[in-house]
Amino acid sequence: MIGKKSSINIFPKSIWREFKETPSFDSLQKSVETEVGIIGGGIVGIISAYLLAKAGKKVILIEAEKLIDGVTGFTTAKITAQHGLIYDELIKSIGQEKAKLYYDANLVGLNLIKQLAVDLNIDCDLSEENSFVFAQTKEGAQKILAESEAYKKLAIDGGLAKKEVDLPFVVEEALVMYNQVQFHPVKFLTGLVEEIKKLGGQVYENTRALKVIDQEELVIVTENMSLISCDKVIIASHYPINDNEGIYFTRLSVNRSYAIAARTKKDIPVGLYISADQPTRSLRSVLSKEGEKLILIAGDGHATGRSKSKTIEHYRNLEEFGEAYFDIKETLYHWSSQDLTTLDKVPYIGRKTVESNRLLIATGFNKWGMSNGAVAALILTDQIVEKENEFASLFDPTRSKIKKEPAKSFIKSNASVAKEFISGKIEKTAKAVADLEKDEGGMIEFKGEKNKSLSR
Ligand SMILES: Cc1cc2nc3c(=O)[nH]c(=O)nc-3n(C[C@H](O)[C@H](O)[C@H](O)COP(=O)(O)OP(=O)(O)OC[C@H]3O[C@@H](n4cnc5c(N)ncnc54)[C@H](O)[C@@H]3O)c2cc1C
Repeated sequence: MIGKKSSINIFPKSIWREFKETPSFDSLQKSVETEVGIIGGGIVGIISAYLLAKAGKKVILIEAEKLIDGVTGFTTAKITAQHGLIYDELIKSIGQEKAKLYYDANLVGLNLIKQLAVDLNIDCDLSEENSFVFAQTKEGAQKILAESEAYKKLAIDGGLAKKEVDLPFVVEEALVMYNQVQFHPVKFLTGLVEEIKKLGGQVYENTRALKVIDQEELVIVTENMSLISCDKVIIASHYPINDNEGIYFTRLSVNRSYAIAARTKKDIPVGLYISADQPTRSLRSVLSKEGEKLILIAGDGHATGRSKSKTIEHYRNLEEFGEAYFDIKETLYHWSSQDLTTLDKVPYIGRKTVESNRLLIATGFNKWGMSNGAVAALILTDQIVEKENEFASLFDPTRSKIKKEPAKSFIKSNASVAKEFISGKIEKTAKAVADLEKDEGGMIEFKGEKNKSLSR
């Protein structure tokens, strides 16, 4: 491996963004009225816009830049309820009943995407795969054994599966969840955008929401001062805008991770894989735009803005893993992005504050925003059309009973960020955009606001 020339350069390129057939939309240039205003054109915003338009609601979706060019365009795109090792932890932190609801909700999200792809005939490279967590160390194997007990308690369709893995190295232990899914997120969401148009939904790009005023009237104010008067607003901007009180800033941590897609000499494994050991190695197959099967390797995550390594080293770490086990011939794509995690690892989906049920959010997907994002769209749509949703209370952002332990360890691990935030809104971490390296992320000051996280 040492001495082998890497094909990774300083210009990242997401394999999903190679799909260029997403339509373009004008920016909003006048003030308008609608029933539902949606801020953000990622997986949450687009599925929500589709479901609401389908339910007969008048919908306007605004995107600050290009559709599907946020985290959703830079993901790994596994749709699974197997979120690494989470169920043992969830049973301990939120209890068995809620942990089961979390699993059920994510299966509902997975099935929604599958069903929409079939019903709307969207060609999005969707395939059903078994999903595995694997351990290469004894410590990792112990964690998998604990997780397998959680699977039994929650009646999860899966279990220990050391003999079922299709990996070219020895694993100490493995845990499978059957019948999960992988897909191409940009192709899928582009298909949905076409349907939103057919249903009369309005979509605007290059239209950044500055704030939402929730007083007598509910109004989105855009950067060019167009006003969108709404009955309800969904904030699907990844990090919630309008966080003047900093409520969400202190309840969300930000983590960046990296991905490569490469041509290999060895066979690419069948299935979805993620390591129980650190650093994380997440694997799946992916088709290039020419239809060539590549390996996608993701991981090497770290708290945003806090890595001691250069960005390119993270890509190299993934590439070296691929060289060691799959004999990489050439790395064709590499990209990175960041996601947000909540105090208890359960996303915040629903009303933004207890005071108002007109302003709704969905965030904190902990790098599992494909199934969770679809669940979010379902919950928010049900709330807007005033239909019961069995998962709403689990994800309620205003839930107060977050158990002490996770909150304590969260606060400890985010103590420096929280301290900086409280004592003058992250003065110490706020960088200028120019300070960021190509493809690096960090907290920056944008138009006088410091609580923005951005990547180049
Ligand atoms: C490397 C990596 C790998 C991942 N792999 C997986 C995986 O395999 N499976 C999985 O389930 N999840 C995965 N995730 C997580 C998943 O990709 C995210 O949780 C999900 O894409 C978030 O979607 P979103 O719609 O909330 O945000 P986004 O896709 O970021 O969409 C938000 C949109 O809002 C827009 N916006 C922001 N501010 C404004 C504003 N003021 N006005 C208007 N628009 C605005 C942005 O431009 C953006 O387009 C991964 C994440 C990362 C980082």
